[in-house]
Amino acid sequence: MRFATRALHTGQNPDQPTGSIMPPIYQTSTFKQQSEEKNSSYEYGRASNPTRIILEQNLASLEDAKHGVAFASGMSATDGILRALRPGDHIIASRDIYGGNYRYLKEVLAPMGIQVIFVDPNNIDALEEALTPQTKVIWIESPTNPLIRIVNISEIAECAHSAGATLVVDNTFASPYLQQPLALGADVVLHSTTKYLGGHSDLIGGFVCTNNEEWADHLRFQVKCVGAIPGPMDCFLVCRGVKTLHVRMERHCANARKIADFLDHHPKIVHVNYPGLESNPGYTVAKKQMKDFGGMMSAVFRTSSSQETRRILYALKVFTFAESLGGVESLIGHPATMSHGALTVEEREDLGVCDGLVRISVGIEDVNDLIEDLDQALRKI
Ligand SMILES: *Cc1c(COP(=O)(O)O)cnc(C)c1O
Repeated sequence: MRFATRALHTGQNPDQPTGSIMPPIYQTSTFKQQSEEKNSSYEYGRASNPTRIILEQNLASLEDAKHGVAFASGMSATDGILRALRPGDHIIASRDIYGGNYRYLKEVLAPMGIQVIFVDPNNIDALEEALTPQTKVIWIESPTNPLIRIVNISEIAECAHSAGATLVVDNTFASPYLQQPLALGADVVLHSTTKYLGGHSDLIGGFVCTNNEEWADHLRFQVKCVGAIPGPMDCFLVCRGVKTLHVRMERHCANARKIADFLDHHPKIVHVNYPGLESNPGYTVAKKQMKDFGGMMSAVFRTSSSQETRRILYALKVFTFAESLGGVESLIGHPATMSHGALTVEEREDLGVCDGLVRISVGIEDVNDLIEDLDQALRKI
């Protein structure tokens, strides 16, 4: 079956006893043990829940993965993966990653005696130089946050495997509709389902999938043992969101392309980061490894301070000035004072997160309203 059909149907056969078209929300903590013959595989809700299993089967099918494990949030999914590391192990991470993952690596993992090394994932020589026999994991995202850079996943997979390391790809920004990292050589793929998979800014959730049995056992054990599980209602909401993923993504991409073009020609814009622009350094790789260029972009406003940039964002009427991404509504954020606010000025500048940088999650509104809104706000610079 093809992607759109799997998105609607995999794991979601009509409920056996009732014929309910929608998956039931099994809002229960425990399951009656009936007899040795009749017992289901369910015992206790932390270990397993039928609504969660439906979600896991559904999302795994979208990444063509054998195993999928749902978590309470994207961050607990990160934590679930990285609890496989032991003191003395090394992890190499892209320096240009989601702020929460950056903080997790620096503030949670490093103090546990795991060496965290940040590299530019587009500098393959630097990556190879950073590899050691202790390197257990390479961690990347593509497109990256907040500069929307494209990282060549198959090239890094080769590099990781030559050193016996696991490649983890955070696929949140692309969604499985646009990019399937396992097919490009990744070993483990992570999503914050809070974003495009849920798609409606109404839940927090995470998901990890893999074809590797050892990683699958590790992840299931973490869920059962640590208990960072999503509730049945949130699992249901992700399932509902996923049914329209392919339709939403097409509109996100179409709107983003038009907005990128508009901003690219605007006198109050210094620079646009969108892989769909032919001038973007990631254009060729994006074309190869993605189905389309996505709904995320960032741009540098011709402003002179963070304060002035924020003033322009407050003036927007259709875009909402808010953290997060991937919902049907357009959101715009200011990385220097939001996701990257905890970094020192030097760290921020080193990453290219300047005061004028804004990150845009293009929604599925009428694109003309979005463009007019940006235009009226940019006039205030
Ligand atoms: C949001 C996000 C996360 C963290 O997910 P939560 O659901 O907020 O915990 C991880 N990676 C990326 C790329 C994200 O955008």
